[in-house]
Amino acid sequence: MKYDVVILGGGIVGLSSALHLSDLGYSCIVIDSFDLKKSASYNTAGGIYIQLQSQVTLLGKNITDQSLKLIPLAKEIYPSWLRLKERISGINFERTGGIIVASAENEMQGLVDKNKIEQDYQLGTSVLDAQEVQKLSSDFSKEILGATFMPDEGYCEPHNLIELIVEQLKKNKVKFALHSRVQNMTLGSSSVTLETVHNEVYHGDFLLLSAGCQNADLLNQLNINHGLYSLPIQMFSTKPSPINIPALTRYAGNKLSVKKMLNNSVWIGGGWPAQQQNAQNLEVGIISENIKSNLKCAAQVYPKLSHAKVNRAWGGYAAWTQDGLPIIGPCPNHPRVFLACGGNGFSLGPLYAELLSELIQGKESSINISHFLLSRFEQSECSETVDSICLPHD
Ligand SMILES: Cc1cc2nc3c(=O)[nH]c(=O)nc-3n(C[C@H](O)[C@H](O)[C@H](O)COP(=O)(O)OP(=O)(O)OC[C@H]3O[C@@H](n4cnc5c(N)ncnc54)[C@H](O)[C@@H]3O)c2cc1C
Repeated sequence: MKYDVVILGGGIVGLSSALHLSDLGYSCIVIDSFDLKKSASYNTAGGIYIQLQSQVTLLGKNITDQSLKLIPLAKEIYPSWLRLKERISGINFERTGGIIVASAENEMQGLVDKNKIEQDYQLGTSVLDAQEVQKLSSDFSKEILGATFMPDEGYCEPHNLIELIVEQLKKNKVKFALHSRVQNMTLGSSSVTLETVHNEVYHGDFLLLSAGCQNADLLNQLNINHGLYSLPIQMFSTKPSPINIPALTRYAGNKLSVKKMLNNSVWIGGGWPAQQQNAQNLEVGIISENIKSNLKCAAQVYPKLSHAKVNRAWGGYAAWTQDGLPIIGPCPNHPRVFLACGGNGFSLGPLYAELLSELIQGKESSINISHFLLSRFEQSECSETVDSICLPHD
């Protein structure tokens, strides 16, 4: 069977791309190794981040220059989620606002400097002093010196999101081949052919690589340099708690993200490492020491969380690149193959899908993607180590 677009990977990028393309009348199939519940998109913390990273100015000028390239994408994150919410009614996308708090002078200076850059580019963030932070919630620690606040940040509950998009895709007659790991790709000049471990064969005019962190394996198969790697990360939720968490909260002093879900459970993460187990099966091991440290860090921001009871811990693999910038666009030498991954991949997922669908239609992308092309890694001799580069929040 031949499709207009074969979509390899059913996370937020693959599913939302299938939505745009099938709305436009393209025939699509989504192929996934599992049942969609193992994807990072299903297991994400669901935070929708727009602010530049709080460490940006603390880490030095090069990182700042890199992050400036992200601003055109950052500006479109909230509008892209609004468009998705309009298309798929019932998704739990909450615009709670997002706050990055500081409890030391150098952290606060970093936030102020970051805010200057954001103001220059009209990103819509503002600086709050200690009193303004307390006004938002008296459950914030009295040690907090100030913060930056961004009204358009928030979160989306991922399970309901994935289920509702799939429901719409079925109405749009998108086909699914689940539990079907792709193991071979043949890229011709006028079509692509994919073969799964069960010897099923799918043909398409275009191929979308939306395999998240596993795009790295697929690009290896195609002998394409990519600069992508996987980060095994974990998070946990607490039992429902009366604590007042007014906004998606991060901390300039450490890895932390805290948010209160609609059922009053608190989700805590921020990019704490999990143990890499079977990466091909997307399995991670939870490191209990890291839960303790993560909770301790959360209690520095919200002291009431020191009594929180952990309800469930989980994790997954996030895709990240050597230079901290996402990859968006066609594969070098394969104009029928497109991909988008990296960065805060859940926040950016709906926007990636919009851009990919524009490219597949043969249009120019509505945002200049020249900084994000995969071809930047072609002759790359990236000397930076993982420790010295921009790492994700979650
Ligand atoms: C614990 C955790 C918390 C996170 N929190 C946040 C957050 O708060 N905010 C944020 O912006 N980002 C967050 N992220 C990152 C974000 O979730 C991911 O970047 C994003 O969901 C990736 O979406 P995707 O569609 O590109 O890939 P995925 O959701 O990973 O989907 C890829 C799919 O491809 C399939 N696949 C892979 N290889 C093959 C193959 N060979 N054949 C067939 N199928 C294949 C996989 O089975 C998978 O279902 C978090 C990630 C984790 C793990």
